[in-house]
Amino acid sequence: MLDRSTTKLTLVTFGSQEPLRGFETMSMDIKVEPPEPTSLDGGCILQVKDDETAAAAYLQRVRATPTSSLLPVLLAGAPSRELAERADAVVGDAHEARELAERIWQAIAELPEGRDMDEEYGLLAYLYTRKTALTPIKAPCSPLFYTYPLAALFLKPEEDPNELLLQLQHRSLLMPVRLFDRVRLCPECGKAQINYVDVCPTCSSIDIAKHPFLHCFTCGNVAPQESFISASGLQCPNCRARLRHIGTDYDRALESYQCNACGLSFIEPDVVARCMACDLTSKPESLDVRAIPVLALSDKGRTAVRTGGVEDVYALLDRLNYTHPKMFEEHINWMLRMLKRYPDAPFSLIGIRLCNVPEIVDRLGRQQTYQLLETFAERLRQLVRSTDIATRTALDTIWLLLPRTDTEGCDTLHSRILALGEATVRADGMRLEFDTVSHTESGTRSDGDDATLLLAQLSSRMGEDHQRA
Ligand SMILES: [Zn+2]
Ligand SMILES: [Zn+2]
Ligand SMILES: [Zn+2]
Repeated sequence: MLDRSTTKLTLVTFGSQEPLRGFETMSMDIKVEPPEPTSLDGGCILQVKDDETAAAAYLQRVRATPTSSLLPVLLAGAPSRELAERADAVVGDAHEARELAERIWQAIAELPEGRDMDEEYGLLAYLYTRKTALTPIKAPCSPLFYTYPLAALFLKPEEDPNELLLQLQHRSLLMPVRLFDRVRLCPECGKAQINYVDVCPTCSSIDIAKHPFLHCFTCGNVAPQESFISASGLQCPNCRARLRHIGTDYDRALESYQCNACGLSFIEPDVVARCMACDLTSKPESLDVRAIPVLALSDKGRTAVRTGGVEDVYALLDRLNYTHPKMFEEHINWMLRMLKRYPDAPFSLIGIRLCNVPEIVDRLGRQQTYQLLETFAERLRQLVRSTDIATRTALDTIWLLLPRTDTEGCDTLHSRILALGEATVRADGMRLEFDTVSHTESGTRSDGDDATLLLAQLSSRMGEDHQRA
């Protein structure tokens, strides 16, 4: 990171040439053309006026550029609330700007040296150094009705912040601190753009109308009020009785809707939810409910920022034929059931637990660790068949499910995997160490046994002394 003694703020004026009062006298670079984010020194002050598009785009560039992503970006002038929420602060003069920038730099100094600034770490480190949280903002056209504009600054335009944030929550790096809203999503496409329509409870037509209805006491006829109105006053269209006194001859009916398609009248219409994106019609109660929280760093997240974290290194392993752990277990359960019916179709499982990734990061740094794991993952990828399925349960534990593989086939793959340890030895002797376990299932388990139990049993056979999870 930067040496704080060289910390210098650059004033960039957008749409206005003259520096605002309070900024002109202090010694700082004053630029009309926004400089390359990489050439910024200690941060920048964006002086905005009227059109904020250029300033907003520049802020995005600063945050999305790894070497400048944590720089203080302050605003001067009269920025909109929208822009202000994405920048560090709005400042009134150069003195205030310096003080704020100083404080940010003090927090940045707590970060580990030499940490690669990928987008995920950039975001987490930003939250850490600013002691701030991610607040959702209404965005009616976005899939969830809400976006997190601050998080989006760190991503490429085509990337979805909601997805990253969900993943960071699953990994317990971010946690919800306050429920902001709750939205309902289409069970088919997951979008929140739902139209709630009232329909006829009998034929489901949307062509229904609300009318006042009358009820004739003489014959019991219930019909729209207008059909009772004749030249001579109120008269039942069915029995022709004259309706003089409400409460004696007639009253208002409970029914107040009529379907123009099937003609029936009814008291309450049904409500259906129709997805505006994929057209699926469903019952409101079958929509998926999603909480929209304010998100902040968890304790684990703060630790990950301070130590540089090693989690993302493991994510490299997910590029095998990766499936979610829950799905993985379902596959196993299905195979267990199949095995009961077709005992001649055994399947196998191989577990791999990496033992020394934190140590490797300590000694070699993140970049080299990436490379080492990349090599390992690539070799492993060459060994597995396209029908094999992989998952990662703990941070450092991978499972391979090998359908229709007997003991012999499983042993062959197992020994090839063990040989990968040798393949990743570096010139300096550093190597990836891992424990493994392999197991072939041939239908001898008792009925109650399921995937969860099977994986737990295998897991405990995998050298507990090395366990890191
Ligand atoms: Zn009547
Ligand atoms: Zn109808
Ligand atoms: Zn849909």
